[in-house]
Parts: sequence; C-alpha cells; structure tokens
Amino acid sequence: MFGRKTLEKKRVPTPAIEEGPYYKPNSPERQVIAEPGVYGSKLIVEGRVLDVYGKSIAHAWMDFWQADGKGQYDNADFKLRGHQFTDKNGRYYLETVRPVGYENRAPHIHAKVRATENSPILTTQLFFAGDIKNATDLIYDELAVMYARKFKDGEKVTFDFVAPTE
Ligand code: FE
Repeated sequence: MFGRKTLEKKRVPTPAIEEGPYYKPNSPERQVIAEPGVYGSKLIVEGRVLDVYGKSIAHAWMDFWQADGKGQYDNADFKLRGHQFTDKNGRYYLETVRPVGYENRAPHIHAKVRATENSPILTTQLFFAGDIKNATDLIYDELAVMYARKFKDGEKVTFDFVAPTE
C-alpha cells in the first residue's frame, strides 16, 4: 500500500525543451533580469524547484534568458539573462518583462535547472497559457505552461519546476 501511494504521488517531470540559438553561459547572478530601460510589461515569475516526489530542492542552480517585449534577445550583453539559486525552501523569484514571440515562436522564457551539483541539467522553455501563437509553435508543450494573473502594475505567474536529481 505504501509503495503504491508513493507512486501515485510522483510528479510529472518538467519536459526538456531545446535550448535554441541564444543561450549565453556565465550570466550574472541576479533575480531581477529586467534592467531599467528594458522594453516590456512587468512580469514576476516565482515558484519552487521540486524533485519527482515533490520535495523542495534548496540551492538548485537556475539560469534564465529570454527576449524582450519586442521579441529581441540581447546577444551582445546580458540583458534579460541571469542565474540564481533556490533558497532553503526550494523557492526562486524572477523579476522580468513579458517576452514577445519572434518569427514563428510563441512567447517563452528559457530556463536551465540543475537540482544538485551531481544532477543533469534540465533545459526547457516556459510558455504562457492562452497565447494564440502556442497553437502553431512546434515545440510548445502544455506541461511547460504558466498561468499569468494581474499583479500590481504588471503580471505574476507561479511555476514549479520538477527537475531530475540523477
Ligand atoms: Fe527563444
């Protein structure tokens, strides 16, 4: 019985989704990646990094990068790029702008997550529920969808990553 119950509680891992062409290693460590002057409407993304059993992972490494509100990446510098580590409760917090889709892509935020130093890196992309471009984006995945709600002068979304630990 116990074993069965444990199995039922297992979470669906966050899907791995391709890195794309715009990743840059060595991003600055910061939670606010929308520097002053970055174009776009305010967005806060927060949540936890969990293992498949739902246990919060403290000090998980996370790296985010994305396009701005015009669908443009900063490939010369590190605008809208940053890495951080989850806190002791496995929580992360990202202050950014809502990205706009470019070419045939739906709006998305790229992320890499490494649960522990010995874990593989999960590379994925997060999408926005209800966006009309999701339907025609070939790498859209409904398991990587965020639900935005109005918050102060912008929006906020909550997303828990379920990351591999080994
Ligand atoms: Fe992209």
